[in-house]
Amino acid sequence: MRARLARHAGFCMGVRRAMELALSTAHETPGPIYTYGPLIHNPQVLELLGSKGITALSEIPAPGSISGGTVIIRAHGVPPEAKRDLRQAGFSKIIEGTCPRVIRVQAIIARAAKLGADVVIVGDASHPEVVGLLGHARGRGQVVSGPEEVQDLPELANVVAVAQTTQTSENFQAVMAALKARYGRVEVHETICEATHRRQDEVKNLAAEVDGVVVVGGKNSGNTRRLAQVAAEAGRPVFLVETEDELDRGALAALESVGVTAGASTPNWLIKRVMRELAAIRAAKEGGFMFWARRVFRFLVRSQVLVALGAAGMTAAASLLQGLTPHPALVGVAFCYIYAMHILNHFLDKEAGQYNDPDRAAFLIKHRWFLMGSGLVSAAASLLLCALLGNMAFLLVSVMSLLGILYSVPILPRLQIGKTMVASLKDIPGSKTVSAAFAWAIIVALLPAVSLGHFDPVGSVLAFVYTVVLVFARCAVFDVLDVQGDLVVGKETIPIMLGEAGTRRLVWFLLGALALVMLIAPLAGSPLALSWGLLLPVIGLGVMQQILARGAMLPGALSEGLVDLNFLLAGLVSLLWWAA
Ligand code: SF4
Repeated sequence: MRARLARHAGFCMGVRRAMELALSTAHETPGPIYTYGPLIHNPQVLELLGSKGITALSEIPAPGSISGGTVIIRAHGVPPEAKRDLRQAGFSKIIEGTCPRVIRVQAIIARAAKLGADVVIVGDASHPEVVGLLGHARGRGQVVSGPEEVQDLPELANVVAVAQTTQTSENFQAVMAALKARYGRVEVHETICEATHRRQDEVKNLAAEVDGVVVVGGKNSGNTRRLAQVAAEAGRPVFLVETEDELDRGALAALESVGVTAGASTPNWLIKRVMRELAAIRAAKEGGFMFWARRVFRFLVRSQVLVALGAAGMTAAASLLQGLTPHPALVGVAFCYIYAMHILNHFLDKEAGQYNDPDRAAFLIKHRWFLMGSGLVSAAASLLLCALLGNMAFLLVSVMSLLGILYSVPILPRLQIGKTMVASLKDIPGSKTVSAAFAWAIIVALLPAVSLGHFDPVGSVLAFVYTVVLVFARCAVFDVLDVQGDLVVGKETIPIMLGEAGTRRLVWFLLGALALVMLIAPLAGSPLALSWGLLLPVIGLGVMQQILARGAMLPGALSEGLVDLNFLLAGLVSLLWWAA
């Protein structure tokens, strides 16, 4: 069935930041780790945090009753005295996880209280965020939930008004009108966070375009329940689920399309699992051809056949850039090597896959014998083909195969590099993306030159650089999508080191530099039509990065396939140039 994911589904900035802090603390800090109150309202995430040794405190322990340990303040924030009490309890480290937007409201309140103003907070007095805000008012704060409560307030002299970040604009404005009517001049700070309302507006618009709405999130999460309510008000059937197991497949199969949204405390991997299940439901009116076409495409992507075909295409492109005729055996080696290494490493590195790509993880389990068998056969076939090409080719691919297989195996002496404990090559920060880029370049660009004994200074360097940059961009684009799962398992990928925006900027820079190199390469003797034609995959990868960054396409088999098709495109462009 067709499932459309709302652009702003899942973690908001504040929750995401608190989760990242908690997970990185769990991986880097020895000793017990606590959060003051549950970090978010999602039972599956709390269970996961528990499995990482992060415990939620329901109250602050008595002074001196704790000896060490780290406590993380959640996104809602706390009153200043709570931090003092946590220190007095004996925690050695307090990590500030308060959302920056909530910190801003706290600062407005603290400044106003210091200047002697009376602060009115529009919100729910029992909500942890409001409890924290009130603490910053130093006894000069009042809370009202609606305009009708303004008459119950005491006489106030100098009124400063703020909103709990999840308030509706309508309610806040109504309270402001009532405050002004009663007290005259009021200093108004509309501190509503747009994340919540943007999400609600989106679900309203989405509900108008689909037959039903699936809301993913904790059933005790206020903002998740509100999303379900907004969708129901739009007159669509609503399915509120915490996990994919709760989907009513019978009722959903009767619908042609569904919209999917998720509360601010729902992690990506839960959303992805729900999307995978929805994609597997055959809608009542879905055509047989489209259903099977999607399944075949998904199989090609999930089984790594598409990316292996891409490697074959890149071998043709790299050979022609070096002035070599594409050799069928070399094309076969690239296909077999990339297929085998991708399959084997996915099996050796299953943990992150469960969070990053549940669809692939389920596919790997379902077809494990076929995939493992075909991966081993492919590894052997690549070596056999190399044996036909000569000793140097055989030696090069043997070394590369060994490195590829050992990549996820703990073969290194345990070393601390920065914040990471390194036991295998995959633990080296950023190694996955860099090693994949160079492994591809060695197989598709260097191997043809070595096997055929032909080294063209311009063409060989150009082919190598072209492959490194394209493959690096591919991996970095996927790494950005996988940040949440990589954080869970403690992987130090490039987006975790540079941040998502920093990684995207790096990809833009590299693709831009490569485009420039390909444009001027004809000045150094590279064939003009070929060099310029090979700009198409560079542009294609840039477009895909932009589409995924904007959330205009769902991460999954389709987006992965479209990224990988750029490598096939490189092969096609170069073969067309050769044929012409
Ligand atoms: S809803 Fe807004 S204010 Fe609240 S945690 Fe999320 S980003 Fe921060």
